[in-house]
This record gives sequence, C-alpha cells and structure tokens, in this order.
Amino acid sequence: MKSKLANKVVLITGASSGFGADSARLFARRGARVVLAARRLDRLQALAEEIQAAGGEALVAPVDVTRRAEVEAMVKTVLEVYGQVDILFNNAGFGRLDWLENLDPDRDIETQVAVNLTGLILVTRAVLPHMLARRAGHIIHMSSVAGWIAAPLYSVYAATKFGVRAFTDALRREVAPFGVRVSGIYPGPAATEFGQHSGQALKEFKTPAFLRMSSEAVARRVVWLAAHPRRAVILPWYYRPVFFFDAVVPGLVDRVIQTAFVRRYHKVG
Ligand code: NDP
Repeated sequence: MKSKLANKVVLITGASSGFGADSARLFARRGARVVLAARRLDRLQALAEEIQAAGGEALVAPVDVTRRAEVEAMVKTVLEVYGQVDILFNNAGFGRLDWLENLDPDRDIETQVAVNLTGLILVTRAVLPHMLARRAGHIIHMSSVAGWIAAPLYSVYAATKFGVRAFTDALRREVAPFGVRVSGIYPGPAATEFGQHSGQALKEFKTPAFLRMSSEAVARRVVWLAAHPRRAVILPWYYRPVFFFDAVVPGLVDRVIQTAFVRRYHKVG
C-alpha cells in the first residue's frame, strides 16, 4: 500500500536530536523527503547520511531559528530545491526550568522565548505564504503539556508553550478555509537531550523513567498526526483529566502545589 506521506516534503526544525531526529527517520521510512533544520551541522549531516543509506531522501538545512534572515534563507533554499513544503514540523525548542529569580535574563529568558515562541512563529510565517498559494499544507507545532498546565519552575517555559498553543489555535482558524491545516502536539516528559539543557533545579524531582516516553514514541505520534491531521494531540492521554481538574478547581491545585512542593523547596534568602 502506498504511504499517504510518500514524496511529501517535510521540513523539520530541531532535527539534530530528540523528537525532530526520530520523526525525520520515521517520515523518511514512509517515503517522505525530509529537510533537516537545526544548528548542529555535524548531527544533521550524520542523520542525512543514515537516512540516505537506508534508501530515503534527506536535505540538510542549517539554521538558527532566532535569526530571521537565516530562517528566510533556509525556506527559500528548500523551495528552490523542492518547489514546495507539504508538512512543516516546527519543533525546535528547549527549556530552562528554575525559580524565576535564578533564570538568567539573556541566556534563559530571552533566548527561550526567542527559540520556542518567536522562532517557531518566524518559521511558520516564512513557510505559510507558499502553502496558502497552493491551498495545501499541514503545519504541526510542538508545544508540551506545559502548554496546558503551568507548574512552578516552568514559568518561562510554560509561557512559551502556552504561547505556542494560542498561536496554533489562532492560526488554525485563520487559514483553515484555504486548505492549510494547523495542529498542536502536547507531549509529557520524554527521554531526549532536553534534560541536558534544562538546568539543575529539577534534578531531584526527575520524572521516574517508567513515566517518561521514548523519543520514538512521540515521533510515531507526530508522523501519525501528519497522516491524520487534527487540532491537537495530547500524550499520554492521562494528562487530559489533569488539565480538566486544573481548569475547574485551580484554587485547590494552587493549594496542593504550594503545600506539597513550593513551601518545602523554594528557598528565598
Ligand atoms: P532535544 O534537546 O533533543 O532537541 C531540541 C532541538 O531543538 C535540537 O535539534 C536543537 O538543535 C534544536 N534547537 C534548539 N535551539 C535552536 C535554535 N536556536 N535554532 C534551531 N534549532 C534549535 O529535545 P526534544 O527533542 O525533547 O525537544 C524538541 C521539542 O519538544 C522542544 O520544543 C521541546 O520544548 C519539546 N518538548 C520536549 C519534551 C521532553 O520531555 N523532551 C516534552 C514536551 C515538549 P541544535 O542545538 O542543533 O540547534
């Protein structure tokens, strides 16, 4: 049976590791032509070679998503090579998780917003006109369960991921009449390189391994979403009642978090 994704041009940001790299492998296995975008060129080249050796098609597209000129040049190159982008998996991002007063304003706050939110918007902004002109395309934005529930230590990260959810919902409504689909994906904790960049504050509260998804499990859902476009995918499913609870009784959730966590661990001099 011919894959729905065969020959589709899939542009993936954050393709040098984690969800981006694993989804690139899976998209390529389904016959898609993948464009690998991120900053670490050596990683992208190694992944492209791996995909090509397995009979797939991959193009390396180095980019820092915080630099608008680089984003625009990258999309221009992809369009020159392939003439179109069928699926954009806008995934690059990182989290610095700590009490707000410990976050560095430049490295941890501005850069986090610049990559996770502004960068994602700029990439989508660069690709969208071509999708609108073709009256076709699917944009998948990587948010997080932190795009639904705002926990202590996640203040800036959650702000970016709530922002991604708001942007996703608004844009979906803007472009749906023109044949362009926009989806959000909201995973819980997964084993990737994310933890290497998140800082030390959460080390003692690390999610137990049995509750962490594999990167490939998330990638499989990304590829499934590309083949079955819909508004949102939340995974694992058991976060749904948690979001519902937080929305319905936020005062109770505040009290539990403050008593069980913040009063014990947030030390202010
Ligand atoms: P990784 O650290 O493995 O991957 C992050 C990717 O983002 C890398 O490929 C990195 O590439 C890229 N990236 C970071 N900064 C930039 C930049 N300025 N320009 C271009 N690319 C950049 O982590 P994950 O795979 O876990 O993260 C992918 C996404 O998933 C993120 O948006 C993250 O917030 C989200 N997420 C992660 C969860 C988890 O538990 N792991 C849970 C829910 C959401 P390079 O450094 O080469 O530029």
